[in-house]
Amino acid sequence: MKHTGKVSKIPVIGFAIIAAIALSAVLLLTGCEEPESAHVHDEGTWVTTLPPTCTETGKKELRCTVDQFVLDTGTIAALGHDYGNWTATLDSDISKKICSRDQTHQLTGLTGTTRFTFEPIGETATAYSVKSGTSTTDAIAIPDYYRPDAQSDYLLIMEISEWAFNGSLDITSITIPAGLTKIGNSAFNNCTSLTSITIPDSVTSIGSSAFYNCTSLTSITIPAGVTKIGDYTFNNCTSLTDITIHAGVTEIGQFAFYYCTSLTSIDIPEGVETISNYTFYYCTSLAAITIPAGITSIGNHAFQNCAVLISITIPEGVETIGENAFEDCTGLTSINILEGVETIGTFAFWNCTSLTSITIPASVTSMGVRAFSGWTTSQTINVPFANDNAKPEEWDTYWKLGCNAVIKYWNGSAYE
Ligand SMILES: [Zn+2]
Ligand SMILES: [Zn+2]
Repeated sequence: MKHTGKVSKIPVIGFAIIAAIALSAVLLLTGCEEPESAHVHDEGTWVTTLPPTCTETGKKELRCTVDQFVLDTGTIAALGHDYGNWTATLDSDISKKICSRDQTHQLTGLTGTTRFTFEPIGETATAYSVKSGTSTTDAIAIPDYYRPDAQSDYLLIMEISEWAFNGSLDITSITIPAGLTKIGNSAFNNCTSLTSITIPDSVTSIGSSAFYNCTSLTSITIPAGVTKIGDYTFNNCTSLTDITIHAGVTEIGQFAFYYCTSLTSIDIPEGVETISNYTFYYCTSLAAITIPAGITSIGNHAFQNCAVLISITIPEGVETIGENAFEDCTGLTSINILEGVETIGTFAFWNCTSLTSITIPASVTSMGVRAFSGWTTSQTINVPFANDNAKPEEWDTYWKLGCNAVIKYWNGSAYE
């Protein structure tokens, strides 16, 4: 009604113009629903709507040649690279193959052992693993192929061996070839100048301690095919602010992010089953973390000294909160422990002095010694039993030793 009111106030000519515009708009709209045209669509021709590239599929549409009506859609397979022959480069020991479709697609082949040493993979050497690298250059690029001499065949470089670049203090960046599948244990241990590494999607295994003490590394993406982040993998990566872990990872090892003091947030994908001992110990910048559904236990010391962690929810399904798990999480103002947790370890919440209260669900049948040590009179602990004598057998006699918090007991309908 508001609209007609407005129209009545403008002159008649204006109204006529508006009416004409409105009418033509209506005609235009209904034009889209014209009755079945006289022709029957022909078999049509396929028209490429998105050309495929070497690695990406394209799209196509089957269109009637008379009115371009889309009869069907389909995909066009990726073309694959079209590499020619090996050609020499200015570096006498490096050859290249260049893709005819895209000059940026290149394969490199190394002859001899001037830059790296290699070990064969398999009894009959079907591929090579980089055994060690020199650290005389800042940026290193691992080639795609290797052959010991010009008479041998090039074979793919598929692995980086254990300790391969251990203590290479000068390396600042590493390029890993697209065919590599495995990074061995301690491969980049103590590469303290390493700031940048891109791990290609082909990598499915990253060994334990692989990036131990890479104190300059700021960001890393774990490829989708990797299922396990091993023990100590990023231990003491004190500059690491950013890490992306794709769904598919089911295991994060002990000490994996120990002392990652710059890490501000991390998404743990669903599918991970446990948070191991010391995994996020001393991550003093970690302000946000989500513990996904599916986690069944939080290890000993898992979040100890995460001093700026503000809020945490222990999801349903978690049965155990380990010893010292949240010790010295002095910034924690909110913790929500859902029903299902059965065990809370010794010193689990020691010095969590910013929490105003915590509610222990009735499912907790075991409570360790001094679990709330350091708590003050301004804090409250809600416990799921009516008085001290009614506490479950496995609540330790000294569970509240060192704790001055107000204890409120469950009277059947409220905490008092
Ligand atoms: Zn047609
Ligand atoms: Zn290509």
